Amino acid sequence: MQNLELNLARKLRPKTFNDVIGQELSVRILKNGLYLNKFFPVYIFSGNRGCGKTTSARLLAAAVNCENLKNFQQNPKEQDVPCGKCSSCNLMLGLNHPDFIEIDAASHTGVDNVRQILESATYLPLLGNKKIYLIDEAHMLSKAAFNAFLKILEEPPVSVIFVLATTEIYKIPETVRSRAFQLFFNGVNSSSLSDYLKIVCKDEAIVIEEEVIDLIVSQTDGSVRDAINLLERVRLSSSSVTLEDALKLLGKIGYEELIDLFEIVLNGDERELIVYLDKISFENLAPQSVWDMLIVLCRSLVWIKFGISSKSLKVFDKYSAKLKKIAESKSVHLLNEILQQFWLQEEIFAKTSNKSIFLESFLLQLCMQDFAKNLSSKKIPSSYNSFDEKKNSFSQNLVKENKEEIKAVAKEVKVDALPENKTEFHSFITEKLSEISDLLLVSILRQAKDLDFDKEKGVLKMAFLGQTSFFKNKLEESKSLLLPLIKQFSPQTNDFIFSFLELKASEVEKKKSENLEPLNKKIENIQRNDIPQKPKYDNQKYSQGYKVFNKSKNIEVGKVVDISDESKWPKSNLLVKFFSGRIEKRQSN
Ligand SMILES: [Zn+2]
Repeated sequence: MQNLELNLARKLRPKTFNDVIGQELSVRILKNGLYLNKFFPVYIFSGNRGCGKTTSARLLAAAVNCENLKNFQQNPKEQDVPCGKCSSCNLMLGLNHPDFIEIDAASHTGVDNVRQILESATYLPLLGNKKIYLIDEAHMLSKAAFNAFLKILEEPPVSVIFVLATTEIYKIPETVRSRAFQLFFNGVNSSSLSDYLKIVCKDEAIVIEEEVIDLIVSQTDGSVRDAINLLERVRLSSSSVTLEDALKLLGKIGYEELIDLFEIVLNGDERELIVYLDKISFENLAPQSVWDMLIVLCRSLVWIKFGISSKSLKVFDKYSAKLKKIAESKSVHLLNEILQQFWLQEEIFAKTSNKSIFLESFLLQLCMQDFAKNLSSKKIPSSYNSFDEKKNSFSQNLVKENKEEIKAVAKEVKVDALPENKTEFHSFITEKLSEISDLLLVSILRQAKDLDFDKEKGVLKMAFLGQTSFFKNKLEESKSLLLPLIKQFSPQTNDFIFSFLELKASEVEKKKSENLEPLNKKIENIQRNDIPQKPKYDNQKYSQGYKVFNKSKNIEVGKVVDISDESKWPKSNLLVKFFSGRIEKRQSN
């Protein structure tokens, strides 16, 4: 009895469709089918783990064979299914029903297993109306198993229902999917899950701080099962659960410590960082969680800067005054750049075996970045390019020798931006970028070339590399945001129109040689010093990284490659996203 009481997940397993949390649509569809006595031979339940797929499949099976199904169909208001009382429902509750067969495809992937199932499916049900087969983790079935399965799908026996449950629907062959009735089980949204956990705590007399519930919800990705399991772990830790207890139990850094830590990083004080890491016993914390929470915090600061409050910021409610103060002293640009650094290093962080030390050195590197100091003022420095150079050298420092490949790829993408005509207006708008709250608009303006405003005609001219249609739409939408800025530049302007120019890569190249001879020289020098020597390029292991440069024969060597077609240049687009610059045809000698 004691054990049963302890196992919350089992105790709370839904016994009727009404107990299924956050899946109203799927439940309604299933109940309608039961009411109309219309069943499909094959169902596919797909969605995140722990969201109610298996539970709903079991409830469907119980309802189909419930002795009160007829009563439900006649009077759905008075009678629910599964009734939970009849002998069939009782057998289902104990998972002993002879007509319900649950198979874990993860351990029965072979074609022989499927053949056995299919053979048994031809026999009539023993007790109920139908035989129901629940195939859990169905995506794990082998190709041969799916093929055998397809045969029965073409002519399914009337007395059989198959339910395939899967977290990876795209792994189920299209031929199977097209013959099945699909239901999606989305992750349960935060507020429903939070409300549900509060009810559970009340029912189970669990004394818990409300913030702990928010913490649990934020950790479980919409999975009811995970949330309940976490709640159970937390409640066993103490008779009255505080947020600090819960964080400690989960190997997490406390919110207050997290904020202090991030503030030290933002202030760029390396010594203080080390002292602080030691103080909070950094090595005992779960590094992945610290990593994730730093990202959440950094993102929250961006939101706070724009004065937007969100449900996801609720965990920081207690510290809002402190966060506001930090947000006020830092630019969006800086916070965004730090987020970018997290994305840049994410893959290496995921792969490294000593995450704790990696994270420590990453934080130290962030601390030591000059940009942390430079960009904390509101003004965006004109030396934006030099920041990019630093960013690249920063990545490379962390990557070190065993990551030579990444390093080589990063080198190939040039650090300098495309040539620009620095007009008066261009300098003006660059200064103003930090005042624009729309990050996408900022990014577009940054990418614009030959940015100029014709005061007399009221025309905002800009040129882009590659297709301009995307920029056009976005800019037209943002006109109201741009007008006040333009008025600052040209007070008599009340309206303006856009004039777009589409640059081809070759034109940019031409412009570059016309306008920026000295810069070219500089780039050449950088290349000479930095790019690995020729034998390295011949090495087989680098070939992967350079494949993109050899795709098209008719691009002249040394010219900028137009990669605006993302489907054709996926890798290059990915690179450019992370390392500002452009893709050039590689010199062949
Ligand atoms: Zn029943």
